Order: sequence, then C-alpha cells, then structure tokens
Amino acid sequence: MKLKPRLKGLNEVKASATPHRKVMDSLRDAEFRRNLQHQKAVHSPITARDAGMGYQGPDMEDKGHKDGSCNRTACQMPLKGKLQFWMPIMSTTSGRNYYCADCERAFREWDEQMVRRGENKPGGYGLDERGYRCRPDEGNEALYESNYV
Ligand SMILES: [Zn+2]
Repeated sequence: MKLKPRLKGLNEVKASATPHRKVMDSLRDAEFRRNLQHQKAVHSPITARDAGMGYQGPDMEDKGHKDGSCNRTACQMPLKGKLQFWMPIMSTTSGRNYYCADCERAFREWDEQMVRRGENKPGGYGLDERGYRCRPDEGNEALYESNYV
C-alpha cells in the first residue's frame, strides 16, 4: 500500500518558496531586458540589427532610395558605400526601390524556389532573365573593383 506523503506545514512551505523580493527582481530584470531590446529595435536600423531584431522605428526619410536606406521596412540598413540592389516599382516605368545585399539574398533564395516551382517565369512581369525581382545596381561594379584591387 502506497502512503500519501506527509503534508508540509506552513513554515516548511514558506521556507521552500522563492522569496517575493527574488520573484519581483527577476520580473523587473525581464521587463528591463524587454524594454532595452524594444528601444534597440526602435532607435535605428543598426541598433536593431545588433540586437538581432527587425527595425521597428519610423521609416527612414531615404527608405528605398539609391545610397539611402534599404527598402524592406524591417531592415532599412544604410546603403551608401555598400552593395545595393533594386527592384522596379511596378506602378511606374522608371522607378526603383533599393535593397541591401542581405535582403537581396533573401529575395533571391525565394525567387529561386519560385522559378523551380514554375511560378516565376524568367523575364516575366517585373522579373529579370533569371526570374529574380532584384537586380544589382550599376555602382556595384566599382565597389567590387575597389574592394579587390
Ligand atoms: Zn535590407
């Protein structure tokens, strides 16, 4: 026959419980860390990236412009002096939205899957001859040369 364990007395329960102050400290620490992460995500695209988060602040004034900020809202990393890629703005005939190399890579990986599935037709509407949405900016050539000479 199995015996029920003896019930703990109130003093035993109190002694084994996490002290209230300790619980409040860890809750306060967790809230502090959450607020700090949020501030980093809102402060700038760079601090957001350093914190491993998507940017959550207001749009940069130069969002999507050449040498401005990446056009992906959760990125918006500065583009000047870096490799940059553009997508045609489909509502205009000459407009471009610019993206950073990391976002271009993510778009390209997605587009490669879409080409394999036959959903992106190379040369199709808004796509280049590979079936990708993003094209390298003409200024990238000079960056490659200056980096490797
Ligand atoms: Zn980006």
